[in-house]
Amino acid sequence: MSQREWIEKDFYKELGVSSGASQDEIKKAYRKLARDLHPDANPGDTKAEERFKSVSEAHAVLSDPAKRKEYDETRKLFAGGGYPRGGGFTPGGGGGFSQDFNIGDIFGGASAGDGGLGDLLGGLFNRGGTRTTSRPRRGADVETETTLGFREAAQGVTVPLRMTSPSPCTTCHGSGAKPGTSPRVCPHCNGTGVISRNQGAFGFSEPCDDCRGTGSIIDDPCVDCHGSGIQNRTRTITVRIPPGVSDGQRIRLAGQGEAGLRGAPSGDLFVSVHVSQDKVFGRNGDDLTLVLPVSYSELVLGTTVSVPTLEGRVGVKVPPGTADGRILRVRGRGVPKRGGGAGDLLVTVKVAVPQKLDDNAAEALRRYAEAEKASGFDPRAGWAGA
Ligand SMILES: [Zn+2]
Ligand SMILES: [Zn+2]
Repeated sequence: MSQREWIEKDFYKELGVSSGASQDEIKKAYRKLARDLHPDANPGDTKAEERFKSVSEAHAVLSDPAKRKEYDETRKLFAGGGYPRGGGFTPGGGGGFSQDFNIGDIFGGASAGDGGLGDLLGGLFNRGGTRTTSRPRRGADVETETTLGFREAAQGVTVPLRMTSPSPCTTCHGSGAKPGTSPRVCPHCNGTGVISRNQGAFGFSEPCDDCRGTGSIIDDPCVDCHGSGIQNRTRTITVRIPPGVSDGQRIRLAGQGEAGLRGAPSGDLFVSVHVSQDKVFGRNGDDLTLVLPVSYSELVLGTTVSVPTLEGRVGVKVPPGTADGRILRVRGRGVPKRGGGAGDLLVTVKVAVPQKLDDNAAEALRRYAEAEKASGFDPRAGWAGA
């Protein structure tokens, strides 16, 4: 709750009484509302729970004549619309404004329906709202990246990833307590991790000093992690990258992220994969692409060329009369697919034009050109009339 909200709150309205109500009237109004709105009577009803907190808060101030006087004066002071700025009402430490009274909070997290004694106790001790850090918390997800060679990415590879991240202490298994002992609920804050403090009419909550806001006290801290339950460990994990990952893809490795707090599950590890280019191959989904340089005569006469694949080589037949730029498909020699099988190898033929010919070859080519004309071949026959 912010300062502004606090000033804006109408505690009389919360209790449904007039600003001139007697202490007796306030007490009666509060009792009735507290009974109706108590979380025990309204399990799972968050609206009732909110109202219960507001009513409790209003009562805490109005039932105390000194606080009530201060509250009345404060409201009068700011009734003109000016809210305090700067230092005037800055709380002495940490927490900001909060309720004086937080039974509602203590019951707050206990959801209806899951029942059981363990849940009830969990609700009492561990669910004091988001401020409580003592409850188990799933570890954070960790992001990392790795660069794979083109062929590695296509075929799948096992890579070691070195990562420094908090992990559960191996000595105390994350409890923070010396092996053989266990943490106890902080008696000062009853496990909520927060202490409510009053300063005049204003209630603050601050992290509990005794347990430093964790809600539990470790009498005999684990010597290896000094009671935190967490150790920063550099670990090398071996990650199996499945075949067929492409550049920019993110792989999720469940449970390989940051350690959970107090026995909660670890987060996930996300590996962003960069794939380096290959001199020979390109990729189009599961298909592997390749440009095959050929000579003009190879296209005209046809040939079989040995081309590289991911695993070795394959003979690609170029039929006689193959047009430049044609794509020849070699089935099943592409990138392995997730569910088994593989894409195709797509070979694009591309004529390499010699920049220099010796006299012999040049002479032969001239003779060929004449013979070609004589045979009736016209490369621009389709342009007739254009
Ligand atoms: Zn430890
Ligand atoms: Zn405490």
